[in-house]
Amino acid sequence: MALLDILIYPDSRLHNKAKPVAQVDSRIQKLIDDMSETMYTAPGIGLAAPQVNVPERIIVVDISDKKDSLLAMVNPEIISSEGEDEHEEGCLSVPGVYAPVKRYKKIRVQALDKDGNSFELDAEGLLGVCIQHEIDHLDGKVFVDYLSHLKQDRIKKKMQKSMRHS
Ligand code: ZN
Repeated sequence: MALLDILIYPDSRLHNKAKPVAQVDSRIQKLIDDMSETMYTAPGIGLAAPQVNVPERIIVVDISDKKDSLLAMVNPEIISSEGEDEHEEGCLSVPGVYAPVKRYKKIRVQALDKDGNSFELDAEGLLGVCIQHEIDHLDGKVFVDYLSHLKQDRIKKKMQKSMRHS
């Protein structure tokens, strides 16, 4: 396995729409392994392929305390949703920034697993938020895009400043 570099906001590549995966093959499985290792090492609870500069529709999520409940989703799609809720979110591509975002309260997602088998999952709470956040990345959306322009400008300046210092 290998650690991958995570793109940092406002990198324009974070705003590209990712392509569906045509076939879950060994290349995709290796990418899922590398993405998981990168997420656990960061550490984070979710990572989408566009964040590691791979414009394909793949996400990994693990919200467990023990980090033993990896959920890998290829071509994930929200097939139904219910209600609305607001949670504070953060992102490995926007280190040190947290802000509340409105999301669906409950979602039902369809995806392919690491073996290419289709499955459906009901998610709410932190898991639901995390999956919606990661699917947004596949559509070229970062959570700060939901904030006011003033806040976005402030975050961009903060990111650029910390990049210069690193
Ligand atoms: Zn993110």
